[in-house]
Amino acid sequence: MATIIDGKALAKKIRLELKEKVKDLNNKNIYPKLAVIMVGDDKASQVYVKNKSKACNEIGIDFEEFLLPSNTNMETLLNLIEVLNNREDISGILLQSPIPEPLNIREAFNKISYKKDVDGFHPINVGKLAIGEECFVSCTPLGVIKILDEYNIPIDGKNAVIIGRSNIVGKPLSQCLLNRNATITVCHSKTKNLEMICKNADILIAAVGRQKFVTENMVKDGAVVIDVGINRNEQGKLVGDVDFENVEKKASYITPVPGGVGPMTVAMLMNNVIEAATRQKN
Ligand code: NAP
Repeated sequence: MATIIDGKALAKKIRLELKEKVKDLNNKNIYPKLAVIMVGDDKASQVYVKNKSKACNEIGIDFEEFLLPSNTNMETLLNLIEVLNNREDISGILLQSPIPEPLNIREAFNKISYKKDVDGFHPINVGKLAIGEECFVSCTPLGVIKILDEYNIPIDGKNAVIIGRSNIVGKPLSQCLLNRNATITVCHSKTKNLEMICKNADILIAAVGRQKFVTENMVKDGAVVIDVGINRNEQGKLVGDVDFENVEKKASYITPVPGGVGPMTVAMLMNNVIEAATRQKN
C-alpha cells in the first residue's frame, strides 16, 4: 500500500513558513502585494480568486482585485496591466483565466512584466526555465516538485513520465524535472504505447483531465504517482485522473484528489509573490 501524500497538511506548513517570511520582509519595509485581474463573471474563477485572496490574507500578503466586465476590450485590459506593471506597491500580477472571447489571453500574459509574472507564463520566464536560470515557475509544477522534495522522494536519475503537455502543467513540469536530472517522457493524445511507457516510470504524473485515466496496469510496482487532474465524477464529487483505489495498492507514494497537488498550487503562488517582492527590492 502506498503512502498517501498529504498535500493539504504540507501546504499548511508552507503557508506558516511563508507567514514568518512576510513578517521578516515587513521588518525591512517590504510589503508583498498580489494584484488579481478577473474579466467577466466565471463562477469557477470567482472561487479560485476567493481562495487566493484568503491565502494572501492568512499569510499577510496585500491583495487587490480588479474586476472587469465581460465586454472589456483588449486595449482596456492591456492598459490596466501597464498601470499595474508600473505601480511600485504591486509585487505580482495574476490574470485569472479564462477570459471572455474575443480577448487574447496570450497577448495579455505577454504584457505582464516578467518580473511580476508570479504565474510563470511570460515567455521570458518560460525561456529562463528552459535554460535553467532563476525565474518564476508556474505554480502547479512548482507544487509537484515541492511535494517530491518534502517527502524526500529522489528525482535525480529517475524515469519520470508526464501524461499531458499543456503550457501550464506538462511542459513546465518536464523542464523542472529535467533541471533536476530526471529522464523525462512527455505523453499526449497522439502518444503510442502509453501503457508501456507509463509502466517504465519511477515517477508517473497525470495531468490529463479525465477521471480514472491512469489504471493499475499502467503503473510499475513501487512507482510514485502524482495526480494533477481535477474532474467531477457522476456524483459530482471531485476526483483526479488516477484510479486511486487500485493504483494505491501498487504505488509507493500517491497524491489524493482532493488534498494532493491542488492546495500546493496556491501555496506556491504565495511563495512566488513573496519572491517577486524580495527580488524587486534587491
Ligand atoms: P489541458 O491543457 O487540457 O491538457 C491535457 C493534456 O492531456 C493534453 O496535453 C492532452 O494531449 C493530454 N491528453 C488528453 N487525452 C489524452 C490521452 N488519451 N492520452 C494521453 N494524453 C492525453 O489540461 P491542463 O490545463 O494541463 O490540466 C490537466 C488537468 O489538471 C485538468 O484536470 C486540470 O483541471 C488539472 N489542473 C489542476 C491543477 C491543480 O492545481 N491541481 C492546476 C492546473 C490544472 P494533447 O496535447 O495531444 O491534446
